[in-house]
Amino acid sequence: MTTLIDDFNRRVRYVRISVTDRCDFRCVYCMSEEMTFLPRAQILTLEELSMVARAFVELGVEKVRLTGGEPLVRRGIAQLVSEIGTLGLDDFAMTTNGVGLVKHAQALRDGGLTRLNISLDSLDADKFRQLTRTGDLHKVIDGIRAARDAGFERIKLNAVVLKGRNDDEVVDLVEFARREHLDISFIEEMPLGDVSDHSRAETFCSSDEVQALIEARYPLVPTTESTLGPSRYFRMADSESRIGFISPHSHNFCSTCNRVRVTVEGRLLLCLGNEHSVDLRAVLRRHPGNMDALKTAIVEAMPLKPERHHFTTDGDVQVVRFMNMTGG
Ligand code: SAM
Ligand code: SF4
Repeated sequence: MTTLIDDFNRRVRYVRISVTDRCDFRCVYCMSEEMTFLPRAQILTLEELSMVARAFVELGVEKVRLTGGEPLVRRGIAQLVSEIGTLGLDDFAMTTNGVGLVKHAQALRDGGLTRLNISLDSLDADKFRQLTRTGDLHKVIDGIRAARDAGFERIKLNAVVLKGRNDDEVVDLVEFARREHLDISFIEEMPLGDVSDHSRAETFCSSDEVQALIEARYPLVPTTESTLGPSRYFRMADSESRIGFISPHSHNFCSTCNRVRVTVEGRLLLCLGNEHSVDLRAVLRRHPGNMDALKTAIVEAMPLKPERHHFTTDGDVQVVRFMNMTGG
């Protein structure tokens, strides 16, 4: 079987597919308040998304993550999950803001989704509303519990930490994860898209700072556990919960990068922090239903994968795409 290997001898095992650019939240680090979303004709259909996932699996990819935008606002998402769920993946995951889980969690689990990451940056309802601009904290908490009731194990929370906004809640978030038997990853904000809400240079909070806040309360022991993603994991002596750090700035993870992304427009992005890409939608629409043409385009894209990203923390926008376009 052909596998996907780039020019730096990194094997691509993991694809993140964005299924929509739309969202019911407007998180301050992800979107601007006023967003214009893509017209329907420009985004991949459910059939095209399913075919893209199948092509990657046939090329040796072992892990697929559906993301967005908010994947649970895409109509037909449960159907898409059940199609991808038949592909025999080792790991089939979704990143969600959690609101749609009360409605969808059971169908996702029954459809073969194996893991969920749920974003949660604050446990204070007012602060949560400010960070998400529109979000209702209680709906997210209900969503987390619905996911657990539906049989999802090892649910992971994702928290983006912004200095002066939610860094005072780091230990509270860890304690919530411990109580609810969840893992949690803390993410450094990335300079994607021009956000008007805050100066990223001022809000930057490094993973080392977050780790120090946690260690003042709970000593952390490093583990070699991996979910094929960029998180570095730690454990606490008295809990099953794992603590992860995603540190694109302070601990560059490019040398072990095994990931590519497909945007909702069908652009295969070889690196989150660069613009190198191939237009898979053009291939899909020029050769409808032709799996070989799609797979060839993916294989031929591999030499475009750059060695590393060049994010800095000086507040400049380095990539003009917003995160909701890219698929976080
Ligand atoms: N809507 C879903 C959610 O929020 O989980 C999935 C898409 S969201 C773009 C995926 C992840 O990216 C979320 O955990 C979010 O917090 C994170 N994210 C968004 N913008 C970011 C940024 N500028 N830097 C770092 N992480 C970001
Ligand atoms: Fe929506 Fe997720 Fe972006 Fe927040 S981080 S605005 S929930 S896509």
